[in-house]
Amino acid sequence: MILVVDFGGQTAHLISRRLKQLGCPAKFILPENALQEVSKEKPLGIILSGGPMSVYEKDAPTIDKKIFDLGLPILGICYGFQIIPQLLGGEVISGRKEYGPATLKITNHKSQITKSLPDTSTVWMNHGDEIVKLPEDFEVVGETENVPFTFSVSKKRNIYGVLFHPEVEHTENGSQILKNFIEICGIEKHEFSIDPKAIIENIKKTVGNAHIIGAVSGGVDSAVAATLVAKAVGKQFTPIFVDNGLMREDAQKSVKTIFEGFGIVPTIVKCESEMLKRLKGIIDPEQKRKVIGNFYIDIFEEEMFKLIKKDKDVQFLLQGTIYSDVIESQGTRHASRIKSHHNVGGLPENMKLKLIEPLRELYKDEVRALGRTIGLPEEFVVKQPFPGPGFAVRIRGEVTPDRLAKEKQADKIVLEELKNAGILPKIFISFPVMTESFSTAVKGDGKFFGEVICLRVVESKDIMTATWAKLPYEILQKISSRIVNEVPGISRVVYDISTKPPATMEWE
Ligand code: GLN
Repeated sequence: MILVVDFGGQTAHLISRRLKQLGCPAKFILPENALQEVSKEKPLGIILSGGPMSVYEKDAPTIDKKIFDLGLPILGICYGFQIIPQLLGGEVISGRKEYGPATLKITNHKSQITKSLPDTSTVWMNHGDEIVKLPEDFEVVGETENVPFTFSVSKKRNIYGVLFHPEVEHTENGSQILKNFIEICGIEKHEFSIDPKAIIENIKKTVGNAHIIGAVSGGVDSAVAATLVAKAVGKQFTPIFVDNGLMREDAQKSVKTIFEGFGIVPTIVKCESEMLKRLKGIIDPEQKRKVIGNFYIDIFEEEMFKLIKKDKDVQFLLQGTIYSDVIESQGTRHASRIKSHHNVGGLPENMKLKLIEPLRELYKDEVRALGRTIGLPEEFVVKQPFPGPGFAVRIRGEVTPDRLAKEKQADKIVLEELKNAGILPKIFISFPVMTESFSTAVKGDGKFFGEVICLRVVESKDIMTATWAKLPYEILQKISSRIVNEVPGISRVVYDISTKPPATMEWE
């Protein structure tokens, strides 16, 4: 196997997923335990992940230098590359920055790690630090326009370093580089697959005769998670849909349809006005997420007590958390908190429910594939991801009933136009953002000062990286005209052309 050392990068865990996809067993470990894990697991190679800190910072995570003397092939990725010169006599400084796509030029095709790579390709970067001096024995095999030491190798030490991220979907040939490394390690191909039967059995065993309640939003994650639970324990499961007014219109209908086949009637909790009351005056995005998260918990608590009164032994709470939620909420010891997902971070002590999260280790595309395997209708499987806090995080500043109505109206227009143009299936996520900035317009020959809506439409598979959709101009035009004409108070529409990274999917 390959040991993947986690320095806290957003895509660190994705490295082990990619290895498994390529048929290579992998274990995800902390740098503090690296030497110990090496003697325990006897890996055939090591990958050092990216991370949010700078290797020259005082408390930056590090690794025992002895790791480099073991003779094992080592591949460092970004932070995991920078740590090599930091420890072996090179130099890293805060230098030229590259966030998002860059063009990699291979300057030496003879190394085993650059096998089958084209002369140039697009790679995804996410660094602010730069290696200005490589340790002895290292040579450069690839560069980008801005950074000469992007891809380096020490043949003698069997160490490889890339400043870009081969593990992300948008790095062309990233899998080829990982494949080359697996070959260097001499690892034979294994087959990995996600086995729904095993997941269902596991849920059955864990839940026993107890009762489980679960959050369902109509989105694909909770639909897959809830279907697994319904298959495992049937009527011992009470799905709960929180109708807080922040979801898309079709969500409630989807939830009902999913459970019809199981003879389960979901509990629908109507609470839009209370939700908006709690959101009054809240403008900080993190606080907004917290308020919504806490409200969910209050509702589940109430529903739990109602079920207990009916003699149900409620012991578990199901959540459709997936790995991208976990990592953005600071999923590992050295990771940064990007935003708090309401379904990550635990429940209040007194609630005493045990969490069941069957999808916690999976990525969006894996969840979709699993959904297909367990027979979820295609229309659910291909649905756009929709954030737990719903439209609230697509409205910058305060969520008022009036702004929420405008956001929903604009959202519908965007969906309609993408659908009419036949491109909705290619789109990963689309939404308008109420930006809380205002601009002047001339409407009907009179001055008009109104809010600017920003349109975000992205393409991605696993949420970890994304590009903005190159929509045909005519469609952009149509959406823009319809929004300014139909949604009251809007003066202008702009298009978001930011990649992830650095920009996240949602604005808040
Ligand atoms: N924090 C480091 C930098 O900005 C490493 C980033 C990374 O590993 N993606 O250069």
